[in-house]
Amino acid sequence: VFAHVVRAPEDPILGVTVAYNKDPSPVKLNLGVGAYRTEEGKPVVLNVVRQAEQQLVNDRSRVKEYLPIVGLAEFNKLSAKLILGADSPAIQENRVTTVQCLSGTGSLRVGGEFLARHYHQRTIYIPLPTWGNHPKVFTLAGLSVNTYRYYDPTTRGMNFQGLLEDLGSAPSGAIVLLHACAHNPTGVDPTIQQWEQIRQLMRSKGLLPFFDSAYQGFASGSLDADAQSVRMFAADGGECLIAQSYAKNMGLYGERVGALSIMVLDNVGKGKGGGWLKDQFFDSHSHMECCCLVTIKVCKTADVASRVESQLKLVIRPMYSNPPIHGASIVATILKDRNLYDEWTIELKAMADRIISMRQKLFDALHVRGTPGDWSHIVKQIGMFTFTGLNSEQVAFMTREYHVYMTSDGRISMAGLSSRTVPHLADAIYAAVTR
Ligand code: PMP
Repeated sequence: VFAHVVRAPEDPILGVTVAYNKDPSPVKLNLGVGAYRTEEGKPVVLNVVRQAEQQLVNDRSRVKEYLPIVGLAEFNKLSAKLILGADSPAIQENRVTTVQCLSGTGSLRVGGEFLARHYHQRTIYIPLPTWGNHPKVFTLAGLSVNTYRYYDPTTRGMNFQGLLEDLGSAPSGAIVLLHACAHNPTGVDPTIQQWEQIRQLMRSKGLLPFFDSAYQGFASGSLDADAQSVRMFAADGGECLIAQSYAKNMGLYGERVGALSIMVLDNVGKGKGGGWLKDQFFDSHSHMECCCLVTIKVCKTADVASRVESQLKLVIRPMYSNPPIHGASIVATILKDRNLYDEWTIELKAMADRIISMRQKLFDALHVRGTPGDWSHIVKQIGMFTFTGLNSEQVAFMTREYHVYMTSDGRISMAGLSSRTVPHLADAIYAAVTR
């Protein structure tokens, strides 16, 4: 009965590793997948993760019972604090509901399905280009996917004008997917001033921000600096969704641990969000009147958040029932222990710094070889990836002749490079652009 099933193509990103694994060459280099490697090219388990796991093993009172549908309560609370900041008014006012999901991907999918069921706008704008899974996740969640201009191939930087024009002409209330930091695949992020312009434009049009935060701490080495974009939107009191992943920043790739937070409108309605569940608010009242009504409104707001959570449960239950316990327990153990947390920030910074140093090394190696072209974008771009500007033929050539594996759009994972492998990559790039 399945004889008619046609073979599906490999995933464009994960398929790179499949091809790499089949290559017997001793010099082969996998720069396709976004996973951190040491200078020796080895995957790494963070020291703090090992310590947290040891604590969990030693605690004989721990059991393997099911978690609630929304996951580990402590993990959810700590995750919201990590992205929004310890003193976030939104958290204090109970305006945030956070559910544990299957890493970043699962958080995006649950958020997408929730919006498709309960939000009045079904269109989501994603940047062009973006992580290849975004359009598939949101389409299958039931949203209609549109794009906004983001990247300018001629400058290998931001197309900010294009972004403003496209978001400016998006229908009121549309959802907008924003990479919180370290945009994948381009490594190009808005400046703080540009974020502020984006925020003002989006709020003035009632566009609903959906942040994808897959690299907090990984871009700059600072957890707070990498959360700034999200916190700017959170600070205005408007509505917002956030998908968090602990794959990269805690190296918990295979544990599939992440969180979806949904922030509802603040109690004085100053956020002027997308108007979602707006009937719960007294928007037409003046600020003074709102202040008089503040107690009742805090309750109302908290009530909206808890109703949102009740609906998230209906999305999750038939999808995977409840999330796994181990990864979330590791994260919670680290986030709640001052010593482990501090040690984590040091390990995280070391990973970020190694990636940044690889950028400089690759740039220098191309320079030394006299490689034609301006390669300064390699040191300017942010995060795990460099969007090299190499075209698909050049990529195919590098794979064929130099056994260098990367996605066909010319994206390379800087985390997969080491001092030892930089010269080989520079040779390959030189050969590709001069042939
Ligand atoms: N969003 C972006 C932008 C990503 O780059 C990734 C990982 N490559 C993810 C989400 C999801 O990753 P995960 O599901 O492993 O957390």
